[in-house]
Order: sequence, then C-alpha cells, then structure tokens
Amino acid sequence: MGLLIKCREAHQLVSEGMDRDLSTSERYRLRLHISICDACTRFEKQMQLMRTTLRQLPEHIAQTQDQNDPPAANPP
Ligand SMILES: [Zn+2]
Repeated sequence: MGLLIKCREAHQLVSEGMDRDLSTSERYRLRLHISICDACTRFEKQMQLMRTTLRQLPEHIAQTQDQNDPPAANPP
C-alpha cells in the first residue's frame, strides 16, 4: 500500500478505526486521503455520527441496526 490510498481503502480504514486503534501509518494515510477527498471527509463524519448515535442507544436496539438504512438525522 502506497502513501496515497484509494477511497475504498480510506473507507475501510475509517470503518476499522471505529473498532480498533489504527496504526500510526494507517492513520497518516487516512488523514492524508481525507485532506484531499471531500467524499471521504463526509464518509468519516457520517461514521462518527453513526457511532455516537449507536452508543446512545440501548445495546439490543443497536444490534438491530444492521440493515442498509442510514440514520435520517442528516438530510442533504
Ligand atoms: Zn476518498
């Protein structure tokens, strides 16, 4: 993996970063990509928002949120 990663890889790092601490180089590559990519900036914000929202829910509800419906908290 080079210094410049693709959106797909950035998305993966964002998702993984929700579950574990990224390594320094992973974080660096992700930040670099996000600094030049609007789509991934939005994706990361959405993931953070979703995680915050899920954390506020009781656990049994959070586990049923596995469908493809994104939370409607952020209309365009
Ligand atoms: Zn991107």
